[in-house]
Amino acid sequence: MRAVVAIGANLDEPKAAVELAIELLKQATELVAASSLHTTKPVGGPAQPDYVNAVCILESDLPAVELLHLLQGIEKSMGRVREEKWGPRIIDLDLISYGTLLSQDIDLTLPHPFAHQRRFVLEPWLEIDPDAHLLTHGLVAEILVQLPPA
Ligand code: ADP
Ligand code: MG
Repeated sequence: MRAVVAIGANLDEPKAAVELAIELLKQATELVAASSLHTTKPVGGPAQPDYVNAVCILESDLPAVELLHLLQGIEKSMGRVREEKWGPRIIDLDLISYGTLLSQDIDLTLPHPFAHQRRFVLEPWLEIDPDAHLLTHGLVAEILVQLPPA
């Protein structure tokens, strides 16, 4: 199944961190496409440095929970410790969507509950898939037109 993964970092060397996360994804899964790196202003949370964001598309046969654990394993291997919600982080990998799965589980919500509000997810995603769509909210290109400017 096709998975969409959003990556973000804003501590230490955020570009290097996002590049390394993409490399680790490539080693652990079948990477289909990776966006360029986007520098973005933080949304919510405390005052904190700018982010570097990217989105990857990959193919996987793993059950969704195992794919999430794989993403969390990459976070852990890169030194992420659980910290303040929406606070600065060394690396963050979120599962945006996985095939046509719908889930309301708090530990794995699919599609990701905030994806439709986040330019830093939708813009890199659209870059690698012009037909991208969110099961819950429709075409990414159309969602972006309706979002307030950055
Ligand atoms: P956030 O990404 O919201 O800033 P975290 O990366 O610390 O915060 O994730 C917090 C929790 O979100 C994790 O315990 C994870 O189980 C849960 N979660 C729920 N749905 C998803 C998803 N689609 N992708 C990644 N994590 C998710
Ligand atoms: Mg996360």
